[in-house]
Amino acid sequence: MNVFTQKLEALTQAGLKRALPNISHEGKWIIADKRRMLNFSSNDYLGLAADQRLQREFLQKMLENEPLVNPLTSSSSRLLTGNFPIYQELEQLIANRFSREAALLFNSGYHANIGILPALADKNTLVLADKLVHASLIDGIRLAGVSFYRYQHNNLEHLTQLLTKYATQFERIIIVTESIFSMDGDIAPLAELVALKKVFSNQCQVMLYVDEAHAIGAYGEQGLGMAEVFDCIAEIDFLVGTFGKALASVGAYLVCDQLIKDYLINSMRPLIFSTALPPLNVAWTAFLFQQLPELQAKRTHLAYLSDRLKQAVQQKNDYPLQTQSCIIPFVVGENEQAVQKAKYLQQQGFYCLPIRPPTVPKGMARIRLSLTADLAEDELNQLIACL
Ligand SMILES: *Cc1c(COP(=O)(O)O)cnc(C)c1O
Repeated sequence: MNVFTQKLEALTQAGLKRALPNISHEGKWIIADKRRMLNFSSNDYLGLAADQRLQREFLQKMLENEPLVNPLTSSSSRLLTGNFPIYQELEQLIANRFSREAALLFNSGYHANIGILPALADKNTLVLADKLVHASLIDGIRLAGVSFYRYQHNNLEHLTQLLTKYATQFERIIIVTESIFSMDGDIAPLAELVALKKVFSNQCQVMLYVDEAHAIGAYGEQGLGMAEVFDCIAEIDFLVGTFGKALASVGAYLVCDQLIKDYLINSMRPLIFSTALPPLNVAWTAFLFQQLPELQAKRTHLAYLSDRLKQAVQQKNDYPLQTQSCIIPFVVGENEQAVQKAKYLQQQGFYCLPIRPPTVPKGMARIRLSLTADLAEDELNQLIACL
């Protein structure tokens, strides 16, 4: 038998074979197996992706341009002929909003995370990463080829031990974390991480890298994420966010000092060697980013729904919920139970997906529920009744 056939067969046997789902979309609903289901697995936290009116408004505005200033392709890397004014406009807008010197755009969060660390880290750099950081960050650390340790999830004591041990052995330590973690919906203690950075800064240069993929747009009074909530934007050396989730677009950004931006433009391979995003998409991101401060009502509703669901799940479940966000796990334990539960919920009209090891620890298979601001309260109540 062909080796790939064999490997796929083994996955099938273990119940772990993946396939692309056959689905279509209608706003906040997913259509699959001829069934219309409310999407409880979306990253569209503010409901902007499901908003057809907004997209029409934007596209009409774009069509008024003669000629079309933001075309459907950039045809090149930004370092060659692919740089369009809209890129700089969005970078300026983001830098201004965060009150920082600079912002730099990337094609995706994955590009950002596999590019930034390899560009910046050298043999005198140690990376200390939270045990649960996203795969893209792990890939970035591996590509960087530098020394690294993973500290226990959100465990400041463990991180302090590692800093104590290594601060005098390296010129630079980069602490890497997410702000909201995708499987438990819990958050990193950003203020404490900033404080730790200061404690050790007389021994070596300590820098903080925070990925706000799940937080940008959805948290903070201006929608600037957990760094805004914890009032520490200025202290985060590498503040990464993505546009593919609450911001209903595609791409990513880094908020940083101008020096770091200049250095990355000279050294970051996924930035230098890839065709830049379509200017039309960048214009759409800018159109939405512009509106972020005015979306407070959506954020408030999202927080209200999150609270409701958290309480309901906690009542039905012994697993202690750590979530402080719109991502709420319903932990059922065994893989098969999670699969059955998801199937049942789908039959009831709720598009929920089972998450199994190795994505989560063994025996902690779950339904990962994520909320969006365009859900009505009674729609959430219907799900709760079925849990
Ligand atoms: C989704 C996600 C990414 C990847 O971003 P893309 O723009 O989808 O490539 C990176 N980091 C985290 C924490 C994410 O959740």
